[in-house]
Amino acid sequence: MHYLIALGSNQRHPRFGLPRRVLAAAIDRLAGQDLTIAKASGMITSRPIGPSQRSYANAVAIIETNLLPPRLLERLKRIEAEFGRRRGQPWSRRVLDLDILMWSGGAFDSDTPALTVPHPLMRERSFVIGPAAEIAGDWQDPLTGLTIAQLHARHRRPKKRP
Ligand code: AMP
Repeated sequence: MHYLIALGSNQRHPRFGLPRRVLAAAIDRLAGQDLTIAKASGMITSRPIGPSQRSYANAVAIIETNLLPPRLLERLKRIEAEFGRRRGQPWSRRVLDLDILMWSGGAFDSDTPALTVPHPLMRERSFVIGPAAEIAGDWQDPLTGLTIAQLHARHRRPKKRP
C-alpha cells in the first residue's frame, strides 16, 4: 500500500544539525527492506504553533510498504523516539514529528493505538497541504471527497467574510 506521511522538526539534532537536516536524516532512516520512499516533497519553513518559538521545517513523503497502519505508526514512533523527541510536550520543542496523513486503504480508525487516518487536522494545516499538493495532488480525501489539490486551492483562496 501507499501512505502519505508528514515530517516536521523545529529543533536541532546533536548529530544531524538543523531541522531540515533532521528531516533528510529521518527520510533516510525510514527507508528499509520493507519500506520504500516513493516520493518526497520539497521542504518548507512554517511558523511555530503554540507557545513554541522556533520555526518548523516541514515536508511530506509518499511511502510504499506492506505494513498496516498500526504497525507503521509503531515504526514512526520508534524513529521519533530515536531522534530524541520528548513525549508529553506536544507543542514544545520537538526534534522530529511523524504523522500518517492518508493511505491507499481509505479511512482507518482505532483506539489502541489511537490512530485516525486521514489525520484529522490535515485539512487545516497549510504546512501539510502545501507540500502534499506537490507530490500527491490527485489523492482523494475519503471524508470530504476532495483531492489534495482541491484542499490546497481552498487554502490559497482568501477567506470569505460574513
Ligand atoms: P502527535 O501529537 O503528533 O505526537 O500525536 C500524538 C498521538 O496521536 C500519537 O501517539 C498517535 O497515537 C495519535 N494519532 C492519531 N492519529 C494519528 C495519525 N494519523 N498519525 C500519527 N499519530 C496519530
